Amino acid sequence: MASPKLSVIIPVHNESACIGPLWKRLFPVLDRIGPSWEVVFIDDGSRDDTLDVIRSLSRTEPRIGAISFSRNFGKEIAIAAGLDHARGSAVVIMDADLQHPPEMIEAFVERWQQGYDMVYGQRTDRSDETRVKRGFAHLFYRLFARFGEIGLPEGAGDFRLVDRKGVEVLRTMGEKARFSKGLYAWIGFKSTGVPFAVEERRIGTTKWSFRKLFRFAFDGIAAFSTVPLRIWTYLGFLISFLSIATALYFLIRTLLFGTDLPGFPSLIISIMFFSGIQLMSLGIIGEYVGRIFAEVKRRPLYVVAERIGGAAEVSNSLV
Ligand code: UDP
Ligand code: MG
Repeated sequence: MASPKLSVIIPVHNESACIGPLWKRLFPVLDRIGPSWEVVFIDDGSRDDTLDVIRSLSRTEPRIGAISFSRNFGKEIAIAAGLDHARGSAVVIMDADLQHPPEMIEAFVERWQQGYDMVYGQRTDRSDETRVKRGFAHLFYRLFARFGEIGLPEGAGDFRLVDRKGVEVLRTMGEKARFSKGLYAWIGFKSTGVPFAVEERRIGTTKWSFRKLFRFAFDGIAAFSTVPLRIWTYLGFLISFLSIATALYFLIRTLLFGTDLPGFPSLIISIMFFSGIQLMSLGIIGEYVGRIFAEVKRRPLYVVAERIGGAAEVSNSLV
């Protein structure tokens, strides 16, 4: 079987209600682009009938395939699996919930044919999100811009087209705490953004809890920056310097004026303050050690339980 020109990979986790409407909009777009395409769903451990819906779709349309994980591994890992199984000269990554308008794929492909290796959808407004979430997103981008080793284009997410060259590089990056947005930027290549408006999620609910998002943000920073580790060196120096200065101050004061015994509150407060700092710094080191541990175990990124359709069966993956 010849490799298709375009692959669309779609991670799905409990999205059975989305797949029908998605397909209704995606198919005409792909049909306009040409006959040579495939769609690969990555079923990320869904507990509803997502896989059955995909299975019956793939019976009517052989260009649809799927791989199904043995459990929920998370969207980032699902994307990695999608890249392993896509065979197209260009790969489009998109969500199943129609927040990423399928019609944009035509614009992506156009740019790709103009010579861009990476075309990302750039969301123009985040007004669909709560103010708190937007605030945190903004803070994250600012922190990342300040401390990360690479720049992230603001508003660029997973909705994008990646040329085969880029896909092959991404596939060599087997890190476990995956932060795709950072990886896309890290590999470089000629990139461009296409603005689009994120649509509201009409079917189903978001799979990201606040806790998951927070972990994700920390993964992102930790994967591309060692500043959280280095902060403590500088802070340590600063605190040592302050304590020497304080010691000198008390020495001179005692020599000149003698001693009295107040000062217990300040003692307790400083003990608490510095134990807090130490625990925090240990915690940060622990976060990195935990990531090193996850990497050295060298477990596979994901476990495939089932494959559906032609595309997934003749995968180029080792797993
Ligand atoms: N998703 C996934 N695994 C997960 C969580 C989400 O594959 O553990 C998929 C989900 O089915 C959807 C996409 O990732 O296709 C984006 O998820 P969602 O819409 O919940 O995220 P949001 O748009 O709120 O960022
Ligand atoms: Mg969504």
